[in-house]
Amino acid sequence: MELTEIFGSNVFNDKVMRERLPKQVYQIMRETIEKDKPLRPDIADVVANAMKDWAIEKGATHYTHWFQPLTGVTAEKHDSFISQTSEGGILLEFSGKQLIQGEPDASSFPSGGLRSTFEARGYTVWDCTSPAFLKTDEAGNVTLTIPTAFYSYNGEALDKKTPLLRSMKAVSKQALRVLRALGNTTSQRVTSTVGPEQEYFLVDKNMYLKRIDLILTGRTLFGSPAPKGQELEDQYFGSIKDRVSKYMNELNRELWKMGITAKTQHNEVAPSQYEMAPIFSTTNIAADHNQLVMETMQKVALRNGLVCLLHEKPYAGINGSGKHCNWSLSTDDGINLLEPGHTPHDNLQFLLFISALIKAVDTHADILRATCAHAGNDHRLGANEAPPAIMSIFMGDELTEILEKLAKGERVSKKGVQYMNVGVDTLPAIPKDNTDRNRTSPFAFTGNKFEFRTVGSSQSISGPNVTLNTIVAEALDEIATRLEKAEDINQEAASIIKEIYQKHSRVIFNGNNYSEEWVQEAARRGLPNITNSVDALKAFVTDKSLNLFEKYGVLSHKELHSRFEIYMETYSKEINIEGNTAVYMTKRLFLPAVMEYVTFLSDSIYKARAISIDSYTQEELLKKINDLLTSAYKNLKRLEMALEEAQTISDTVKKAEKYRDDVLTAMQALRKDIDALETYIPEDKWPVPTYKDLLFKL
Ligand code: ADP
Ligand code: MG
Repeated sequence: MELTEIFGSNVFNDKVMRERLPKQVYQIMRETIEKDKPLRPDIADVVANAMKDWAIEKGATHYTHWFQPLTGVTAEKHDSFISQTSEGGILLEFSGKQLIQGEPDASSFPSGGLRSTFEARGYTVWDCTSPAFLKTDEAGNVTLTIPTAFYSYNGEALDKKTPLLRSMKAVSKQALRVLRALGNTTSQRVTSTVGPEQEYFLVDKNMYLKRIDLILTGRTLFGSPAPKGQELEDQYFGSIKDRVSKYMNELNRELWKMGITAKTQHNEVAPSQYEMAPIFSTTNIAADHNQLVMETMQKVALRNGLVCLLHEKPYAGINGSGKHCNWSLSTDDGINLLEPGHTPHDNLQFLLFISALIKAVDTHADILRATCAHAGNDHRLGANEAPPAIMSIFMGDELTEILEKLAKGERVSKKGVQYMNVGVDTLPAIPKDNTDRNRTSPFAFTGNKFEFRTVGSSQSISGPNVTLNTIVAEALDEIATRLEKAEDINQEAASIIKEIYQKHSRVIFNGNNYSEEWVQEAARRGLPNITNSVDALKAFVTDKSLNLFEKYGVLSHKELHSRFEIYMETYSKEINIEGNTAVYMTKRLFLPAVMEYVTFLSDSIYKARAISIDSYTQEELLKKINDLLTSAYKNLKRLEMALEEAQTISDTVKKAEKYRDDVLTAMQALRKDIDALETYIPEDKWPVPTYKDLLFKL
């Protein structure tokens, strides 16, 4: 099949709807999708029927309401289309009701106390702004998959999609107010857009299956560095190996079929690390698609004798994986609000939206940090390759200079052209091509969008985008309120830009974010530097945060509290699994292997002495190994004790703190000994594949 035929072939998209729905129904569907209107029940039956016929023609036997519970992964329960006739035969059926709403038993999904046990029901409701599609597997099973929002009997959000849709609405409303105040009468909607770049590792499946830590925790809990790391810088953008290229091609095809615009692929910095980026789309669809990307990456890998690792830090000592969320705002008539324009008016609008971002990120740096907080990402933030835990904005020198001068009321000049300092006629043409790329910034302006780099590779992009949309909605709300009251719009807009810069420019940093000087400079500027998830998550439940999310109708106090509970619990659970796995591997794999070698060395010393030859080497080795073994055993005991203590704590926050302070540190101490032991034990006696095997044998 041609690529153009493959693309979207498994999507019940606009083209299919136009072909298969009666004209009137199609029109109503379009309006429902575009204008965010409630779906009319009388057309649901017609749509469901068309959807069913289309799916069955393509081999589907089942349908599923696909949703995104707070586990961060997706959930689906499959029902076949069959129903029984009175004659005992079967009929293939799919009603409007079945399309619109499902009632999965929700009791096994995390609710953070939102759902009392007597009301276990949850509701999945079709999100018709994200098209239904067919999921296929290797065996040829085809399932009609309907993207849905998931909430409780009382209407509380139990998922990641509901608040995302609410936040998109909030930012659209406030952005439109600003546009109207500036005289725009044509745009009807503003959509937040996202293009998430997905980083991942591949590892040979046979190697993977011998690493219990990779299987159970997604990362290596032990492993001394391979003789070679990423120092030669020979992997990034390097030529793609055949085995990997075969994988990428198969992955692309699967994604294209589901209408996912897989576009860019390349080798990443670390050995065996890669990246895939789609073309950006509306946040809602981008979030659904990114879930499918992660799922498909893993499935296709298995088919190719590979395993795809999405963990933020599968290997110590080399780069981890992130998910760069490129974010912008666009109007329905095609204006990118973060793109500098040609006219002074366009530039005023551009600078107002940029100012909104500056204000939002500075005011809510703590919440942005919280949305990326989970155990896996702690290994990455602040380590040497990733953005630091300090939120700051890279603006580029030219744009910073313009803002700086506007704030000081100075003349802005460019290439000898002088501009006055007030009013709309006076704004300079802003450089469109911002090729200046700072790779170290957590939040970088890249010419016509911001790139939020703190997001972890394994996490759903919903949370970070909910936060971005909401904090920007708040800033735009305040800007709109001022503009709406202003007598002279241009004068007021200029004052807003000036005041925001004066108040919030501390968040702008164009230098090297990895440097120690920045850490100190940021502290002087009063920017928060929250180095671990447990502290970071606390920012969700401050009054500032609770009021923000409630004010814009994104998450109620109760919903936000429940999320906080769930994320904090998940942190503890994940570290608990890691701790248990470390204990298991040490006791059952590493200690026995080391003791065997100790016995071998002892025997060798005995035998050497018996025939009166020098046993110096054996004795030296034995002593070193034995010291490490003793230390490892002590650290094992320490870890076991820390785990036991942590497990008995019931307070969610105290428990997480215990895992962070005692369990993790004990794990690190144990790892140090085991990794040192690894370097002494013969390769064929070491019970698990080493870093060299995992990273360089693809
Ligand atoms: P990089 O140099 O970082 O690779 P690219 O220009 O290739 O940057 O874009 C990276 C991602 O940003 C892609 O997914 C792209 O579709 C996305 N992107 C581009 N424009 C926008 C926009 N207006 N809104 C959101 N994402 C965008
Ligand atoms: Mg990028």
